[in-house]
Amino acid sequence: MAARVVVLAAPSGAGKTTIARALRTRRPDEFGYSVSGTTRRARPGERDGEAYHFLTRDEFLGRQAAGEFLESTQYAGELYGTLRSEVERVLHAGKHVVLDVEVEGARQVRKAYPRPASVVFFVIPPSPRVLIERLRKRRTESEAELARRIDIATGEVETAARELGDVYDHVLVNDDLDAAVSEVIELVQGGGRASDRDAPRDMKSVLSTFVRQLKREAPQLKPSTGRSR
Ligand code: ADP
Ligand code: 5GP
Repeated sequence: MAARVVVLAAPSGAGKTTIARALRTRRPDEFGYSVSGTTRRARPGERDGEAYHFLTRDEFLGRQAAGEFLESTQYAGELYGTLRSEVERVLHAGKHVVLDVEVEGARQVRKAYPRPASVVFFVIPPSPRVLIERLRKRRTESEAELARRIDIATGEVETAARELGDVYDHVLVNDDLDAAVSEVIELVQGGGRASDRDAPRDMKSVLSTFVRQLKREAPQLKPSTGRSR
């Protein structure tokens, strides 16, 4: 089967990075990763050229003006973008290329690579509570940044619910990691899943319920409440 562009979009903390890493570990000959460019600061443990290409704002804007990005966006005040060279490097090696992007990027990639050249997933954790717990446990953001990410997440899940079937081919619930990774492999290699074709409205209602619960949980995260579970 031809190498495809595999897009993982999700709210921050849903597990895109973890799934992308597991895909490469489990199937190194079949899946490669597109390393994005970003202006955000590296987290402890993140290496330049591996997690991201860490760029200054000027470098990013220069490369953008030169047409080096397939897509780019602003997220939480920082610039992020997929480099054409990264996608082409992996596709030319005959591997599926995994992209970890937010919803605006997913829309742009879908346009550049229409079905079946791309397969686009929206990843959610089993519940908003788990999302918040995973973000907290990761310990990579301050309380204020965390609250901001949760605010953005609400809008992202609403967008995904609207764009199901158009931009998004599948909703992936990342509960058990191995199961989620197996599902991605199967859907990328096999092309489809009966439940998605039969029940797009079910997926829409899963996302709508998630948004409702997230809106209820989000206020607990505001630093001013002082709550820190
Ligand atoms: P994202 O890239 O979507 O922001 P990460 O991959 O960084 O999310 O995951 C957020 C946190 O959740 C990380 O600490 C990660 O180890 C954890 N995590 C991811 N997937 C799972 C899973 N299936 N079960 C338990 N913890 C997970
Ligand atoms: P983080 O700062 O947590 O690594 O990423 C923040 C958000 O930016 C996540 O939703 C992530 O998927 C998204 N992101 C990372 N790289 C890219 C990219 O190249 N393009 C777009 N559009 N979003 C990206």
